[in-house]
Amino acid sequence: MSKRLNITDLSNRFKRSERMPVVFLGHGSPMNAIMDTEYSRSWQALGKSLPKPQAILVVSAHWVSKGNTLVDISNAPATIHDFYGFPEELYNEKYSALGSPELATKVASMLEHQGGKVDDTWGLDHGSWSVLKYLFPDADVPVFQMSIDMSRDLKHQLEVGAVLKSLRDHGVLILGSGNIVHNLSRLSFSERTKPEDFAVEFDALFSEKLLNRDFDTISDRSKLGTLLDQAHPSVDHYLPALTIAGTTDMKDELVFMTDNIDLGSISMRSFVFHN
Ligand code: ZN
Repeated sequence: MSKRLNITDLSNRFKRSERMPVVFLGHGSPMNAIMDTEYSRSWQALGKSLPKPQAILVVSAHWVSKGNTLVDISNAPATIHDFYGFPEELYNEKYSALGSPELATKVASMLEHQGGKVDDTWGLDHGSWSVLKYLFPDADVPVFQMSIDMSRDLKHQLEVGAVLKSLRDHGVLILGSGNIVHNLSRLSFSERTKPEDFAVEFDALFSEKLLNRDFDTISDRSKLGTLLDQAHPSVDHYLPALTIAGTTDMKDELVFMTDNIDLGSISMRSFVFHN
């Protein structure tokens, strides 16, 4: 069963979950961090509806690595302003949550067979802080990021998610941040912009398969074919959704939140698995 939730449906919705829900958010433009949008409002409402986590592990599209899954063990992760040409206000944003070096080290060792490795050179990129500032505005929950290993096939992220699943029983919120469709070369800023056909098609295919728990198809390049290449010239924004799928099982119920296609070629689809 699945339905699309409105903001008003979210109130306390996930507080009764037996284990921590897992969340994927389509983060879109960094401007959502400083603008009142449908998305920023939905992230605010979602934050209020979740149980308060012990820690948050973020898998962001903006931390990519090759050959390892890096886990940030910083004590106080820096706010990284990893974008260019945006208003000054955005560069003044700071999310001052502490890190969780002990748990991050444990996560790296849990991922031993998936190339897990500790790292202290990152912090929080905008895939993290632009949504966290709405989810947990007090920044009072420790946060750490994990990279996506771009040298592996899509299925690798499902495997990583499966290893991390047990953290849900220990109050850890696993948050994926990317976009289900992300093709910057096909953006359109015209007011009359209609979503690109490939964007609508890929977004619909992904959500149908997710709903049917057909994770095999959504992680198989040969099944996704050229539609995947159109939706994701680079899969960095797609992989965090697969990590999140990997942390789920049949006990979970899936709910979708926002599901618009922005600027013609960015899917803002977000979802939560919970039980
Ligand atoms: Zn992004």
